[in-house]
Amino acid sequence: MVLQLEPLHTCNLTCTGCGRIREYSTSLKDMVPLEDCLKAAVDCDAPMVSICGGEPLIYPKIEELVAGLRAQGRIIYICTNGVFMRKKMREYMAAHYSPDLEHRLQRLVAENLVTEKEADAIRHSDGAAKHKAVIVPSKWMYWNVHVDGLEFTHDLIVEREGVFKECVAAIRMAKILGYQTATNTTVYKETDVEELEDMFNYLSSLNVDGHTISPGYDYDAAKKDMVKRLGKKPEDFFLTRAMTIKKFSRIQEWGRLFTIFGTPVYQEFLAGKRDLTCTAWAIPTYNIKGWKAPCYLMTDGHYPSYREMLDQVDWEKYGVVDGVARDPRCENCMVHCGYDPSGALGTNYQPGDNWKNFKYNFWPRPAAIPFSAELEKRAFNGASIGKGHLAEAKAAINSPAASARGAFSRNESQTGGFGNGSCGSAESAERDQLLARIETARNSDPAA
Ligand code: SF4
Ligand code: SF4
Repeated sequence: MVLQLEPLHTCNLTCTGCGRIREYSTSLKDMVPLEDCLKAAVDCDAPMVSICGGEPLIYPKIEELVAGLRAQGRIIYICTNGVFMRKKMREYMAAHYSPDLEHRLQRLVAENLVTEKEADAIRHSDGAAKHKAVIVPSKWMYWNVHVDGLEFTHDLIVEREGVFKECVAAIRMAKILGYQTATNTTVYKETDVEELEDMFNYLSSLNVDGHTISPGYDYDAAKKDMVKRLGKKPEDFFLTRAMTIKKFSRIQEWGRLFTIFGTPVYQEFLAGKRDLTCTAWAIPTYNIKGWKAPCYLMTDGHYPSYREMLDQVDWEKYGVVDGVARDPRCENCMVHCGYDPSGALGTNYQPGDNWKNFKYNFWPRPAAIPFSAELEKRAFNGASIGKGHLAEAKAAINSPAASARGAFSRNESQTGGFGNGSCGSAESAERDQLLARIETARNSDPAA
């Protein structure tokens, strides 16, 4: 149904908890050649291709990749952290500039999304800029921007202030230029559901075309061992199935209020109203090492072709069936890439499912929430108002009374999720390293 294509794992960010840049840390400089990317799409023949990574806009042939996939007739999602989007869209304008584009360009300048200098460069682009391959707006292509919460939470997760602001600027610019724009969000143990609703309201007011949302899930053998040996409760470490169901108890309502991509059957599963069996093979991942099995999250091997992966993996070993985990690592998993296709493919079909899925996806979409200054004020609750994570780090380090843990361990009332929707499973142990870094800085230089 969807190919998760990872042409590279290099990234301009180092988000707390990014699974991808760690799992593939030894091959960060490697890239999948363009021809192999296009061949992989033909190989599994999925109608949709999600180009992820790493940061796909760093891939030197991203424009050619998008054009090649479009020539194959595929729907494309570019899963990006948003930082390079405006640059790519300026390149599009420089290549396609004509007086027809002028009014949009002036609007972009008026809204501070393009500087006067950049606008002039677009108007007077040289031959090289005019002939450069670019990513053009298309109803078959989406920018899919990673947003895991409002400003404070998002910047904290990506470990860089200003990224949320840049994502919003890129989304606004994309909408003015006629691109389709979606967002992807991962929900973790710490995710504050109310903040997510605020985030959806704000994104809807920016006319974002849709959202993917998935529970994150971090399996960690060491934590499992702690559960077993030390008798700790799983919910202290994992986003268990019960916790996921609690977090997603309002998912069906969100599906009515916002354009949440996917199937209502999967939403019923997330809300704990029915069971599904994982169909991880329906959203396969291809990267520098080949076809990754069994799924986007777990790696038990890589295969040279999609067919070999299908034939050689013992799929009966994975997933949860009738409440019993076939593999202990699957026990708490309800992720989008494993179960949303199950909802579409009818693996646990119930009468009316097809009609429900059809109606949900082809009926008119929910109306956008009207933009308001109040919504925007709530969205920019971090660096923009002097409450960035660096400011908090400084405060934590400077104040003997303020423990670093107090400043940085987030609870349900403070934060959004830790993880990502575009780049793989997150590792919550990373948070402990973040705390440790603060502690080390404080111990080595109390005046810092
Ligand atoms: S989560 Fe995505 S944006 Fe963040 S470091 Fe990983 S690949 Fe980069
Ligand atoms: S249940 Fe989840 S972790 Fe297990 S194979 Fe399916 S998608 Fe992967």
